[in-house]
Amino acid sequence: MIIVTSIGATDSVIAHIVEHVERVGLRVNVSRGEQRTIIGCIGDHDKLIAANLMRLEGVEQVLKIGKPYKLASRAFASSPTHVSIGDAAGTVVGARELIVIAGPCSVEGRDMLHETARAVKQSGARALRGGAFKPRSSPYAFQGMGREALELLAEVRSETGLPVVTEVLDPRQVELVADFADVLQVGARNMQNFALLSEIGRSRKPVLLKRGLSATITELLMAAEYVLAEGNTQVMLCERGIRTYETSTRNTLDIAAIPVLKRETHLPVLVDPSHAAGQASLVAPLAMAAIAAGADGLLVEVHPDPTCAQSDGDQSLTFAAFDDMMRQARVVAGAVGRTIVAPSGAATPSAIAATATAEV
Ligand code: PEP
Ligand code: MN
Repeated sequence: MIIVTSIGATDSVIAHIVEHVERVGLRVNVSRGEQRTIIGCIGDHDKLIAANLMRLEGVEQVLKIGKPYKLASRAFASSPTHVSIGDAAGTVVGARELIVIAGPCSVEGRDMLHETARAVKQSGARALRGGAFKPRSSPYAFQGMGREALELLAEVRSETGLPVVTEVLDPRQVELVADFADVLQVGARNMQNFALLSEIGRSRKPVLLKRGLSATITELLMAAEYVLAEGNTQVMLCERGIRTYETSTRNTLDIAAIPVLKRETHLPVLVDPSHAAGQASLVAPLAMAAIAAGADGLLVEVHPDPTCAQSDGDQSLTFAAFDDMMRQARVVAGAVGRTIVAPSGAATPSAIAATATAEV
């Protein structure tokens, strides 16, 4: 249930409403907007119905939400959530700027990571991705460089100023990965690993939550709810293609999921065209469709030499292909009222901050 306060309700009036709700045994989530405050009530709603909320000073409306997700629901927040990733770079996901996160599927070594970070930054990427722990379908496939990769990611961050995004596979790794990364990625295969989601919810790191291979949109939002329920509000969702009967692509990019999610939730929505496509030649067209449909950002795999990649070489873009994609992306983003930061050759965080407001 949601309580909408009247315009200009004072702090003491809001505090009194909160106290009233807590007294009957429910938890609250308060979202302050410019004019109104929204008080989300979590718990047994029957108790609230008996609590005569409309009689309280400052209560304008009491709304029932028929959705299983509450904290993730659009009605629960007075404005879209902005997620800040990497303090130094000033990167914000969910605002007008469309954020592109790019890098290799897996961190394979120092040189390739440095080289990729510099190239994607120069093309306008605002964060670096790179797997340290890889969820592979085969136990015999390359599993990632682990801690060494985390150290390399941190090293490259200090060199380029790019915040780093990397996957965490297991609740026992959350502390370690959070020590190095700016964003904790939850992969498709782990979207319903509830122990992992709760542990990540207890950390305060931004989270990139990918949609499960066969998960519905509601299931994705319920997964986000696990993180939010533990108090971590910095959640970004990522559509990365779902499994269907179609075999021409690795997965089927669910474009409709973007406007549906934007309607249902206040959380930013990113799209990973690489894992949806499975082939490099399809990545740019899917990325353009995602931008046109309202995505807040993209997650794209880029490798210095995709033919030698240890994972996902088929779908990884070369530096040149990524640069072409970014040029096209700027045009499409502009057409739908979004911006993508201008390409930058500079290598310091302050230079990034200086170009962060540049629009194309
Ligand atoms: C990845 O981002 O490299 C990855 C493993 O993605 P997903 O979990 O979407 O398959
Ligand atoms: Mn990959």
